[in-house]
Amino acid sequence: MKKLKVKLVLAGHLRNSLNLQRLRKFKSRLFTISEIEVINVLSEPQHDTEFLSISYSHSDIDLMLRSVNGADLILGVMNYRFIDNFYMYRTASNKACISISDIDRLLLAYDISIENFILKNIIELVVFKNTLGSINTKDVYQYVHRETRGCLFDMNGDKQDVLYNTEQPILCNHCKAQINSKNVPSDFLEHLKKDLSKITKSRILKIEELIRKHPLLSVLIALLGGLLINIATQLAFNLMKLNV
Ligand SMILES: [Zn+2]
Repeated sequence: MKKLKVKLVLAGHLRNSLNLQRLRKFKSRLFTISEIEVINVLSEPQHDTEFLSISYSHSDIDLMLRSVNGADLILGVMNYRFIDNFYMYRTASNKACISISDIDRLLLAYDISIENFILKNIIELVVFKNTLGSINTKDVYQYVHRETRGCLFDMNGDKQDVLYNTEQPILCNHCKAQINSKNVPSDFLEHLKKDLSKITKSRILKIEELIRKHPLLSVLIALLGGLLINIATQLAFNLMKLNV
C-alpha cells in the first residue's frame, strides 16, 4: 500500500509549541509526515473582523494554502478562529486546514495533547483520500455523522466533543461498513485501527491521570512500595551480616 506523504503547514503564532519530533516519528503504514513548513506572517483576512478578534474565512484559507504543494496531503494548523466557528476547512482535493483556537485550551485542560488532535485529523483525511480520492468532496458525509460516538468521524459541531474522540477514537459500525464498501487494500482497516490505537497519552500523563482519578489507590501503592523497599533493604542487610 502506498504511504501518503503529508506536509504540515504551521500557520502563524500557535500559542503552544508542538512536539514536532513526535509528529514526524509517528509510525503508520498509511502515511508519513514528510515535511513541516512554517508560515510566519499571515495575510490579513479579506473580510471585516472585530478589531481584537481575528478570524479567517474559507477563501482566506484557500488563498493561504494555494501556493503550498509537494505532498499527497497538506494540512495547515493555525490558532485563529474560522468565521463559522468550525475547526476544519477543506480547500482542495488534498488540502485542508484546522483551527486549534479554543480547542488547544480545552485539550490541554484534560491532558490531551494537541499533537494527538493533529494526528487524528490527519488520519481522518487519509481515509477520505484513500477511499474517496479527494478530501474536498461532499462524499465525506458518507462518513461524518452529527452524533458523537467517540468515532473518528464524529462531526464535533460542539467543539467540546473533541474530548470524546481525540484519544483512541473508535470506528463505529456505520463507518467501518463504509470503509469496507470501498475499493481499498484488504489490510487497510487493520492498519487504520492500529494507527488509532496509538493516539494515546504519554506514560507520564497516564500515571498523572490515574493519580488524579484514584488518589487513595495512589497512596496505597506508595505505602506498599515503601514497605517493599524496607523489606528488601532489611533482607540485603541480613545477607551481608551472614556473609561477614
Ligand atoms: Zn462513525
